[in-house]
Amino acid sequence: MTDEPLLSVRNLKKHYPITKGLLSRQVGAAKAVDGISFDIHRGETLGLVGESGCGKSTAASSIIRLEEPTDGEVIFNGGDRAGRTRNPDGTHPNDVTRFDKKELKAFRRDAQMVFQDPSSSFDPRMTIGSSIAEMLLVHGMTDRQRRRAIVEDLLERVGLSASDYDRYPHEFSGGQKQRIALARALVLNPDLIVADEPVSALDVSIQAEILSLIDELQEEFDLSLLFISHDMSVIRKICDRVAVMYLGEIVEIGETEEIFSNPQHPYTEALLSSIPLPDPRAEREQIELTGTVPSPSNPPSGCRFHTRCPKVIQPDDLDLEQATWRRLLNLRDRVAADDVDIEQIQENALVDEDDGRPSNEVIKSQIRTEFDLPETLSDPQAEETLSQALEKLVADDRAGAAELLNGAFVTPCEQSVPEDTDHGGGHRSACILHEREQDSIELSTADD
Ligand code: ADP
Ligand code: MG
Repeated sequence: MTDEPLLSVRNLKKHYPITKGLLSRQVGAAKAVDGISFDIHRGETLGLVGESGCGKSTAASSIIRLEEPTDGEVIFNGGDRAGRTRNPDGTHPNDVTRFDKKELKAFRRDAQMVFQDPSSSFDPRMTIGSSIAEMLLVHGMTDRQRRRAIVEDLLERVGLSASDYDRYPHEFSGGQKQRIALARALVLNPDLIVADEPVSALDVSIQAEILSLIDELQEEFDLSLLFISHDMSVIRKICDRVAVMYLGEIVEIGETEEIFSNPQHPYTEALLSSIPLPDPRAEREQIELTGTVPSPSNPPSGCRFHTRCPKVIQPDDLDLEQATWRRLLNLRDRVAADDVDIEQIQENALVDEDDGRPSNEVIKSQIRTEFDLPETLSDPQAEETLSQALEKLVADDRAGAAELLNGAFVTPCEQSVPEDTDHGGGHRSACILHEREQDSIELSTADD
């Protein structure tokens, strides 16, 4: 590894327009990638991890410019373009997002992509050898014998044999096809490979083989890798550093061992807690994330994870049990979204009642049960508000209930966007909790 990164992604955004009507008027945007930044050094593997839909594939295709990014820079210091500084107008000569056709063609030689589904990435009518050799032809190698020799050699290096050159894609298993996809990605001798869930479609036993192949090839070809996966245990096997993504943003980044042993962001903690332990009898606390992933077209204010975060911060004047606070906010948000089915709750309450319609008290208590809230909150004022809001809910005054809950229960996490906190050694996370800890450390040292 050298000090100079091979790839520097800066504040990269990809927003998909949401249009409406015959004239395709733009009414909004899905902020699939919303300002991500990271570096990848030569010979390094950076993992990009997060739940499905958080923007990993969009990030990959925007970096490689299969899609046009909305904003930001992707600076690639390939080959003889290394070392140049900025143009007088502030743009960077190595910014992939500004490359013209010719520069893009050169970039497409230096940066290759490997996809999840090996079946769809080959033309079924072409032998796999000619599929790979075609890349050499496109980039100007006219000597047929030479092309064949290079491809045969590569097939052997990825664990297949030279004679596989003349076979067709359907003759290979999924794992073998992924080996062929790797051979094709390597044939132009790239500096960077972006691998988007390259083992997710494979059996677990095959996954391990392909992961160790990627590891070997990386060493042999001195590759930098952006390795995308939703699976933390796969990330751990192959990555030097990890970036954790949530709803279009990177919430934590750092060295793999550091992220696994000392995770800072509550979202990272939750992802880690869901990895199966090697010993199924071993005990570990499972962190359950409530609620669904919000839409990237309307992301939550402040910290985007606050709608699901188990550690969501309480206002200064409140000191409930943390789990109760989380559930109280869940109730608040469901009421605000008009997503509480009072009739269903009445019916559920009815099951426990013998005669006729359940009383308001019973329904209110049933709402608490369904949201896992205690019969009385430990804080009298919070209890008063909750009880009034439930009263309104039962009286079908949903707007009134929402107003009460929204007015009384507010988390600092929705009021400001967290800045990156530096934990040292390139480990950063974006969480209001860490911001506050950092602030209080600074205050106490200032006092000394
Ligand atoms: P991941 O790879 O992490 O599963 P994606 O990058 O595929 O996530 O998707 C991120 C978000 O962008 C999702 O909400 C998805 O619905 C949205 N998205 C992806 N592609 C498009 C598109 N072409 N048009 C509109 N929205 C899209
Ligand atoms: Mg994807």
